[in-house]
Amino acid sequence: MELAKRAASLTPSTTLAITAKAKELKAAGHDVIGLGAGEPDFNTPQAIINAAVTSMEDGFTKYTPSGGLKELKDAIIEKFKNDQNLDYAPAEIIVCTGAKHALYTLFQVILNDGDEVIVPSPYWVSYPEQVKLAGGVPIIIEGTEENQFKITPEQIGHAANSRTKAVIINSPSNPTGMIYTEEELKAIGDACEKHGLLIVSDEIYEKLIYGDASHVSIAQISPSLKERTIVINGVSKSHSMTGWRIGYAAGPKKIISAMTNLASHSTSNPASMAQYGAIEAYRGSQEPVEEMRKAFESRLNETYEQLIKIPGFTCIKPQGAFYLFANASEAAKMTGHNSVDAFVEALLEEEKVALVPGSGFGSPEHVRLSYATSQDLLTEAITRIKRYTEKNK
Ligand code: PLP
Repeated sequence: MELAKRAASLTPSTTLAITAKAKELKAAGHDVIGLGAGEPDFNTPQAIINAAVTSMEDGFTKYTPSGGLKELKDAIIEKFKNDQNLDYAPAEIIVCTGAKHALYTLFQVILNDGDEVIVPSPYWVSYPEQVKLAGGVPIIIEGTEENQFKITPEQIGHAANSRTKAVIINSPSNPTGMIYTEEELKAIGDACEKHGLLIVSDEIYEKLIYGDASHVSIAQISPSLKERTIVINGVSKSHSMTGWRIGYAAGPKKIISAMTNLASHSTSNPASMAQYGAIEAYRGSQEPVEEMRKAFESRLNETYEQLIKIPGFTCIKPQGAFYLFANASEAAKMTGHNSVDAFVEALLEEEKVALVPGSGFGSPEHVRLSYATSQDLLTEAITRIKRYTEKNK
């Protein structure tokens, strides 16, 4: 039996590969510290769990409208109004089975075979794969360290041609934690308008921002930019609800309506009880969100200071999300490895610390460390990485 071409060309997620190896070592009795996590280490706030349980007890255990419950759409609309002063109608919102599935559905309805999507690197691993699954071609443009891993309007201008359909902006970014300023977004928006491009704005880490950084959505810069932007967001990272699978897209009615039609033939609807949980997430107290954010910020500050003292490591301090994206190319060289991938593998073998190699994010000189784990484990992990680099110099 031959698999379909689209399946054969899929590459497995590097994040999952290293996590699998770490689990294997753990199962064999090794004391492994995994810094690969892409999810908050806190449980979902109790009020959200209670709301989901109550909904089930009250009999809301049936199909919902494909695009999501009206009440949840209303809660999302209120959130956009409060946070970004953006106005959306229910027909401009679709609730999906996670932000990942919102993105997947979006690419399926906007791309024809051969259409190009500009994907800034370092990128979240699923963007290029999802574009390819929709018959599109990801065009990778590099966000350099000199420019804090961000792309420029000039780069968009160089990459854009008659086949280019959209640009992905992910701010705050996974893996780099960088945040585009309002001015930068405006300049990128101008370039997208000039070349007639849609903007896919993935804002899933919106609530996890630190220091004096602030989040601006490119959709709020002007009404004309809003018209060409599809905002992707969800409750996974903000409310520690990764397993609930609730994300959404907000954008032009024509696109949202096509996505809703597709959802009606694929998922039918996101899980009803999870939608009730998400209503509580947005309408209930936001204190737990702020508590989690504060915990992440304190870990970031402490771990960042420790990390930059490791020989051969450099790192631009992230402003958001929960990852440190460090350049480890010198550390790899110093310890006799010809790639950062090999360094990461040796570190896992010898010191039992699992980092995610940057190659999976299109950035082979870097490693990603997630600080969605306790400070004690983070400090121990840094001690081990330091020991490894000093021992093997
Ligand atoms: N976008 C980015 C940048 C992410 O890092 C993730 C999760 O890792 C997602 C989207 C998907 O989130 P969800 O759990 O809502 O599918």
